[in-house]
Amino acid sequence: MIPAPLSPPTFTRGAPNYLTAILFALVALGTIIGVPAFAYIHGYTWVDWTMFGLLYVITGLGITVGYHRLMAHRSFDCPDWIKAGLLIAGGWALENSALKWAADHIRHHACCDQEADPYNAKRGFWYSHCGWLFFKDMNANDKYASRLRQDSVVLWQHRYYLLIVLSGLALTFAVGFLHNGWIGGLGCFLLAGVGRTFAVLNSTFCINSICHLWGRQPHGQADSSRDSWLVSLVTFGEGYHNYHHTHQSDYRNGPFWYNFDPSKWLIFTLSKFGLASSLRTAPHL
Ligand SMILES: [Zn+2]
Ligand SMILES: [Zn+2]
Repeated sequence: MIPAPLSPPTFTRGAPNYLTAILFALVALGTIIGVPAFAYIHGYTWVDWTMFGLLYVITGLGITVGYHRLMAHRSFDCPDWIKAGLLIAGGWALENSALKWAADHIRHHACCDQEADPYNAKRGFWYSHCGWLFFKDMNANDKYASRLRQDSVVLWQHRYYLLIVLSGLALTFAVGFLHNGWIGGLGCFLLAGVGRTFAVLNSTFCINSICHLWGRQPHGQADSSRDSWLVSLVTFGEGYHNYHHTHQSDYRNGPFWYNFDPSKWLIFTLSKFGLASSLRTAPHL
């Protein structure tokens, strides 16, 4: 008997999400056209590059330490004012409120590689990288946000998310303006505001795409997650994604001393100053 050919998996796709698509297009075009055009006409100053670097680190760690390891996985505890600081920094990354981000991420772990996985890597590189953002979510389920809704700091950040985003962009303009007037403000806004947002967005996206498609699986093959030390270099340690999927509540993504994981170093340092507690680790490591 000839076996029936395997049919390709079918995926449902929601209606286009025009608002997110337009916003992402503005950030992408601003970075690809606006940033080099300004460099050609006026050039960037050391203030612009310093702000770019500082905000890349601050907003990147806001996502990895605040949104991801603290809110989505509860891998440590901290005072509310530290949490608020981390969620403001994460808000400046333009990756939605911590409530929405962490609920999506909890669902990613619960339904990895399945239809309800918001950035399902089985749907290909571009879908898991950023394509999923451009369609309405057909599988949103409020149960993944219920624990987060108990947190007053999360609700506060969700309510004022737009103001937080605008304050981050305004900060870049204000610093540039103080240094070099209107042209300085525009330059700093373009490089440290728009260009940096594009850079941090894409580094985060690499975890959902690259770290589910290419790399080693030394800690388990229960899902498509993979370790990539290369991705860790630009994501503050999040590239050790196979370890993370296997031990989700560990505050470290790279558990060994030689793993490049600045997020765990920050959490560990905070704990030494009494600003983080109950750091969770996998029992055998
Ligand atoms: Zn993952
Ligand atoms: Zn996670």
